[in-house]
Parts: sequence; C-alpha cells; structure tokens
Amino acid sequence: MGILDWISQSAKKLKDVESQIAEETRDVYEVYQRNIVLEREIAQRTEELRLANQTLLTLEQVWDMMNSSRPLSSVLETIVSSLYGEFGYIYSFIAQKQYDEKGPCYALRTYLENDFSTKMSDLTNENIYDFKLYPKENGIIENAVKNKEISYYVSLKDFIEENIPNIDEETLKKYTESNNVKTIIIFPISVKDQFSGFLSVFSPRKELKDDELSFLNLFARQIELAITIANLFETVKKQAVTDHLTNLFNRRFFEDALHREATRSLRTKQPFCLIGLDLDHLKKINDTYGHSMGDKAIATIANVIIKNARSVDIPSRFGGEEFFIILPGIDAKGGIAAAERIRTSIESAEIEGLEGGITASLGVASFIEQTTNIDELFEMCDKAMYSSKQKGRNQVTLADTDNMTSWQDIAIDAFVDILTQHRIPFNKKVASDLIEKLQLKQNDSSGTSTQEMLFSIVDSISKSYFPLYQEGSTKNKVTLATLIAKRMNLSKADIDKLKIAMLLYDIGNTMMPKELLKKPAPLNQKEKDEIQKHPIVGAQEILKPISSVSNIIPIIEHHHENWDGTGYPNNKKGEEIPTTSQIILITDSYFAMISYRPYRKAYTIDEAIEEIKQNANKKYSKELVEAFIYSIEEFKKM
Ligand code: GH3
Ligand code: MG
Repeated sequence: MGILDWISQSAKKLKDVESQIAEETRDVYEVYQRNIVLEREIAQRTEELRLANQTLLTLEQVWDMMNSSRPLSSVLETIVSSLYGEFGYIYSFIAQKQYDEKGPCYALRTYLENDFSTKMSDLTNENIYDFKLYPKENGIIENAVKNKEISYYVSLKDFIEENIPNIDEETLKKYTESNNVKTIIIFPISVKDQFSGFLSVFSPRKELKDDELSFLNLFARQIELAITIANLFETVKKQAVTDHLTNLFNRRFFEDALHREATRSLRTKQPFCLIGLDLDHLKKINDTYGHSMGDKAIATIANVIIKNARSVDIPSRFGGEEFFIILPGIDAKGGIAAAERIRTSIESAEIEGLEGGITASLGVASFIEQTTNIDELFEMCDKAMYSSKQKGRNQVTLADTDNMTSWQDIAIDAFVDILTQHRIPFNKKVASDLIEKLQLKQNDSSGTSTQEMLFSIVDSISKSYFPLYQEGSTKNKVTLATLIAKRMNLSKADIDKLKIAMLLYDIGNTMMPKELLKKPAPLNQKEKDEIQKHPIVGAQEILKPISSVSNIIPIIEHHHENWDGTGYPNNKKGEEIPTTSQIILITDSYFAMISYRPYRKAYTIDEAIEEIKQNANKKYSKELVEAFIYSIEEFKKM
C-alpha cells in the first residue's frame, strides 16, 4: 500500500471516529438536557409538596385553635402570624370596616407587631391600635371588598397614597424607599352581618404565583370560618348563662358564681354580700294591666339593677320576679347601702301606663361576717327579704342571725330525739328523767342555765360508756373550742354549729363494743379499726334521722381527719376538712392527753402543748396550732 492510500484510509477512519464521537456527544448532551429538565421538574414538585405540607400544617394549627374555644382575637393572631414568613412575606394584617366621623374606614383588627408596624405608626404619628385606613371610593380596597375579589397594589406608594390621606411627599418618599415591598395583596373577608373587611399581605415579589394565591385564599376562608365559629360560641355561651327577658345571669350561673365567690372569700378572707330582691305585688300588676305590663316591670327592675351594679357584681334573675345580686368585697354595711340605692331607684322609676310605679322588697346577708355556709347565707337572705315584705314592703332588711333558732334549742331537740327514740343504748329510767328535764327547759327557763344542763347530759351519756370520762370536762371542751373558733374568725353561725357538734361528736362511741372502751391497754390494729368507725356511726346511724342537726353531720364525720391526710375515716386533707372538725380534733386531743389512762400517765399541760406544736402541718394546720396556742393561754386565765 502506497503512502497515499494509507493517508486516505487513515483520514476515512478518523472521520468515522469523529462522527462517532459527535454522535455520542449528542447523546450525552441530550441526556444532560433531559436531566436538567427533570431536575427542574423535581425541584418544582418538591416545592409544591413542601407548600402543600406547610399549608396543611398551618391549617391544622388554625383548626386546633378554632376548636379550643380561644377568643377570636387570639385565633386571628395565630392566623396572621402563621402567614408571616410564608413566601417571605414582609407584613400581614386583618382590617375591619367601620364608620367614624370621617366616613368609612378600615381599622386594624389583627396585625403583627414588628419593625414594619412601628414604621407604619410613625408614618401617621398614630398608635398602631388606632391606625385606620381611609379608602378611596372605587379604589382597590373598596372594590375588592364590594365585589369579593382578590386585588393588589403594585407598590407600597400606591397603597399609601390611596388609603392614608394627608401624607406629605417627603415622608412618603422616605417611607416607601426604605423597604422592598413590591406587591400588596388584598383578600376580601366577609361574614354576613358580622364582619366586612380584608386580609392583606405585603410581598417582596412582583409576580403572584397561582398556588400562592390559592394558598392565601384558603387562609381568607379560614378567617371567615373562625369569625363565624367565634360568634356562634359567644351567642351560645351567652344564652347558656343569661336570662332572655332581662339579660341578667340565670339561676344556674348564679349558683355556680355563689360557690366560686364563697371559695374565694374564704381564701382571701374578704367578705361578700348577697342582696335578694322580690318585686312587690306583681300578681296585682298582671291582673290589672296584663302580663306584658308585668314583664315590663321585671325588665325595669333588671335595668335598675344593671345601672347600679359595679363590673364585678353578679346580678341574676333567680326565678320569675325574684333577683339575687352578689357583691364581692362588700360587707353588710356596704350591702345595705347598695340595696337601699336599688330600692329608691326602683321606687322612682317610671313605667309608661303603670300608675303609681313599682316597689320591691329586699334582703341583705353577708358572707364571713354572718355565716361561712352558702346554704345558710341564702336562707338568711331569703328570710330577710320575706321580713321586708311582712313589715310592709318597699324596704331593705339585714339578715338577723339572732332570730335564728338558738344552738341550745337545736341541741335540746337533738337530745330529746336521741333519748325518746332510743337511738343509743342508755338506761331507760335515766333517759326518761333527762327527757323530762330537757322538755321542761324548753318551756320554761329557770334554775340552772340551758348550757349547764346540756353539759351535764353529755357528761352522763359519756360516763355511761366510758368510765374514765372526767365529770365536767364537756364545759371545758366547749369553752376552749369556742375560743379557738373565735381566734380563727369563724362566723357566729359556724361557732353555733361547733358548739352543737362539741356535744355530739363522740355519740357514736355509745354503739362501740364496751370492752374496747374499757380496755386497760393500748388497742391493737383490729380493735383500732373497729373503734375508728365511731365518727361514721355517730353521724350516719344516730344523727342522720334528726333533720335539725343535718348541717353538723359532715363536721362529726370528719372530726378524726388529719390535716396531712393521715386521719380517718376518709383520709381527707387540708381544706377538704371542715375547720370546725379540726377544732374538735385539737380540743379533744388536748383533753385526752392531759387525762390519765391505765397504760400511760397524764401529760402535763406544757407537754401536751408541746405535742400539739409538733403536730403543726401534720395532724393540724399551722394556723390552727397558732390559734390553739393563743387560746390555751386565754383558757388558763379563766
Ligand atoms: P309580693 O309583694 O308578696 O311579692 O306579691 P306578688 O304578687 O309579687 O307575689 P306572688 O308570689 O303572690 O306572685 C308572683 C306573681 O308573679 C305570680 C306570677 O304569675 C308572676 N310572675 C312570675 N314570673 C313572671 C314573669 O316573668 N312575667 C310576669 N308578667 N309575671 C310573672
Ligand atoms: Mg313578688
């Protein structure tokens, strides 16, 4: 082969290789191109997924909020703040349409507090809370809201010029130049008869993507839903606690409020007052003028009560023409003054077509001062109101604690019942003698005092089951317990209950096996379990059938409960135990300690006091021990 042939052959080969390379390069390039397209597509899908995921998460959060019965403002805040940061938004707010002296305007309802809001208020020298937009007629905002269409401004300058009047050129320039807001989007929000306004977001981009718009649209719908739900909630809540004729609280709310107030009052040691009010002669008004005039009279009373109430007072319509008002922090004196103000306002209120107007009878009772039991407070207030009626109506009466049956009378009734009904095993002859003595006492009070006689009855009953019982100790126990109760600021009503309970707390022991009470050694566990039934037996088996002492049953049932929950029968602790029960426990323990027992000698007074001190925060509350230490000194002087 000649050299020329070789060259031409080589050139041909080279061409083949070249074209092969070109072909392969083209293939590679195509693949490369395809990859780029694919990558872009993947990125786009990923972004879509991220957005969808984010939307779902945010919506879920908003849903949780809406279902949590949080106030509307806090739901809207969550919505607005979850928008912030999405798509790099610079600012977002919700505005509500209003009318003021300058005409229609949009007040900021929910907004983000950040640099941007500060600048916004700087712009108009207004507090962000008072910031309002005054939209141009047929401007972008007004059209968006009217036509329920999404609209946008293409610059912050346009937005400000159109909605914030009287901005000077220089401020406007300074303001619009210092940020990178490119688009302001306006989403109309409307809830029939409740809300008309818009959601606005400030975007750093000129273009608006479709998925961005549908995302924002979803948000706007959520806001509408949140407003609707919140309004429904409000209405239902209001309907549940108010009376429809008067708009005052209803009976159920009043009863709950009375419990709440009592708990707070006992905790803070602040009194509260209860005023009861009953419209006079409503029946006559109904009969003479018709039922609607009666309704008018009731509505008038409600208005007077509302006008006279402070914001913390709880005025309620208890029933037909009966009202109760709780006045937190007010004592009896203040309560009478408030009731008197209401009474005179009612007397001078004019009702069209009703000759002579209306009057009401009122009763006042004071919590802590007069009682610390709400049933008793209510009963006292009701009685006072009734007493106003009896004395001629149109007046105010303060509850009268003296008029209630005396504690001695209640105790006498209880003992007569226990003895005549043979509720305890007791010598029949002695019992009939005692009954005679008691009944005589109820009819005529000469000779020994009622108290002394009651003490001697308890002494003889106690001696009958417990030979070591010290004659005369009942009087001492009642005296010391009363001193402690007074030191602890218990009401007269509670002290009276305590006195009755002091006579009856161990009555259950009459039903315990005699050999246990007489045993000359400490009791073993089984025996202890048996004897520890005495508070329940006393309360439930002996006293329960006697209705006049029903309110001391819990006191007796709990007189062996310890402050730290280690007592019996229910392991109650702390405030769960009636204070009166704790006073019985400390008094009983003290007198037991200073008495002799066959298996131990008597403690000296100082040893007993020391033992009680050691039990502060254990058997007894610290407060009770302090009251005891103070009272025992007083007692020693007597
Ligand atoms: P007193 O001064 O002793 O309270 O006399 P009174 O007529 O107001 O009291 P009484 O308890 O004898 O009658 C109450 C009447 O109030 C009977 C009842 O039909 C009427 N009443 C109760 N609720 C309403 C109401 O919502 N509207 C009207 N119009 N009357 C009512
Ligand atoms: Mg009446």
